[in-house]
Amino acid sequence: MSTPLTAEQVRERLVSLREHDLPTHGGRTLAYVYDSGRAEVDLVAREALAAYGGSNGLDPTAFPSLAAMEREVVGFAAGLLDAPAGYAGTVTSGGTESCLLAVLAARDARPEVARPRIVAPTTIHAAFHKAAHLFGLELTLVDVDPATYRADPAAMAAALSERTVLVAASAPSYAHGVVDPIEEIAAVAAERGIRCHVDACIGGFVLPFLDAPPWSFVVPGVTSVSADLHKYGYAPKGASLLLHRSMALRHTQFWATADWPGYGVVNSTLQSTKSGGPLAAAWATVSMLGRQGYAALAAEAREATLAIAAGVDGIPGLRVLVAPDSTLLTLATDDSCDVYTIADELLARGWYAQPQLPYRGGPASLHLTVSAATAPGVGDVLAALREATAAAQAAGPVAVDPGIAGVLGSLDPAGLDDATLGGLLAAAGLAGGDGGLALPTRMAPIHALLGSCSPGVRAALLTAVIERV
Ligand SMILES: *Cc1c(COP(=O)(O)O)cnc(C)c1O
Repeated sequence: MSTPLTAEQVRERLVSLREHDLPTHGGRTLAYVYDSGRAEVDLVAREALAAYGGSNGLDPTAFPSLAAMEREVVGFAAGLLDAPAGYAGTVTSGGTESCLLAVLAARDARPEVARPRIVAPTTIHAAFHKAAHLFGLELTLVDVDPATYRADPAAMAAALSERTVLVAASAPSYAHGVVDPIEEIAAVAAERGIRCHVDACIGGFVLPFLDAPPWSFVVPGVTSVSADLHKYGYAPKGASLLLHRSMALRHTQFWATADWPGYGVVNSTLQSTKSGGPLAAAWATVSMLGRQGYAALAAEAREATLAIAAGVDGIPGLRVLVAPDSTLLTLATDDSCDVYTIADELLARGWYAQPQLPYRGGPASLHLTVSAATAPGVGDVLAALREATAAAQAAGPVAVDPGIAGVLGSLDPAGLDDATLGGLLAAAGLAGGDGGLALPTRMAPIHALLGSCSPGVRAALLTAVIERV
C-alpha cells in the first residue's frame, strides 16, 4: 500500500482479487447470491449503486431523493405483502437488520415487561438469536413438527407468557424452505395481544406469486413482515425491508436523541450515516422489474426448484428432505454417503451448495437456493448432483476420529479460551505455519467434525476460524 496504484492497476487487482470468490452470476452458486439473469437490470442497478455511493441516508431532509425512493420501494413491497392502508415501512441494510428492528420495536413497545421474551420455532433464522443477544431478550425456541419441519402452533401457544413481547415465524424458513402455519400462529398471538412478526426475508418477493397458504398482512394478527431486496428482490447487497401494519407499531423502531452538542439524531434503522447506494440500486431494480418481472422470475425459480426436486428422486443415495414450499431445496443422504462430501464434489465441478449441520434430531443436509438464473441449467445441476453423489458414495461417509469426537462432544463452550481453540484447529489440521489458518480444499472432514459438536462449541470453533481468516 506504500506506493499508490494507478487506476488501471486498481482495476486489474480488483479483478484478480475476485478470482477465488464464488461467482455471483451464472446460476451455479446455490446460496448467498441471487441472479435474476436480467443483465440490463443488473447494469442499471450497479450504475445507481455507484451514483449514490456518497449520498447519506442519515438525514432524509438533506437528501430528499433517498426519502422519495424509499417511499416508492416500500410502497411497491406493501402491494406484494398485502399491507393495509396505514402501513409503515423502512428500507434497512439487510435481513438481519430488519429482524433486529422488529424485535427492538416489540421490546420498546412494552417497557413494563422487565424480562421480555420472544417465542419462535427452532427453525427461526439466526437473526432472532442475535436480536435476543444484542437487545437483552430471552428467546424461547419451540420444537417444530419433526416430519414437516413446520412450526407447531399449539406448542407455540403453550409457550406464551406475560413476558412474551413478540412471536416470530418464517415464510419460508431458510434451512428447510417451508412456510410456517402463519394463520394459526398469528391467531394465538393476537388473542393475547402480542405482536407477530413474519420473517419473509427470503420469501417476500417469491411467495406472492406462488400458491402458498396465507402468510402476509392478509392474515389478521400479523403485525410486521421482513422481506429482503438483496435476495429474491434481486437487488445488489445491502437492502431489505421491514413493514409494520401501522405507523403506531413502527414508532418504537425509531431512536432519537438531542442530548449532545451535535446535530439532532433520528435513526429509523441501526445505522446512522448510511450509503444511499443500496437503496438507489434497489429502487432501480424494483422499478425495472415491477410486479410482472417478479412474477416471471418467481415462476422460473419455482419451476426449476420443482424440476431439481423431481430429478433428485432418481439419484441413488440422495433425497429431498422436505417438499419445498418456495424456491429453497433441502437435500439429505442415506448412509451410503454424506452431504459434506457431496458439497466438496460439487465445488470441484463448479457448483456451490451449502452444507447444513445436524440440528435437534434433524439430519445434516444440503441447502440449495434456486434463483431464476439457475432455471436454464436444471439439467446441469442434476448432472452435477448425480456425479457428486456417486463420487461421495464411492468415497463413503467421512469418518470422525472417535477420540476427537468424544473430546469435542464433551467440551463446554464457556471454557474454551483462544489457546484451546487454536489447539483444536491445529489438531484438525487447520493450522498454517505462521499461526494463521490453512483452509483445506476439501471441507468435508471439518464439517463432519463440527457436526459432532454442540451448537455452542460449533459457534466457538467457527469464530476461531473466521478470526484467523
Ligand atoms: C437471509 C435471511 C435472514 C437474514 O438476512 P441477511 O440479509 O443475511 O442479514 C433472515 N431470515 C431469513 C428467513 C433469511 O433467509
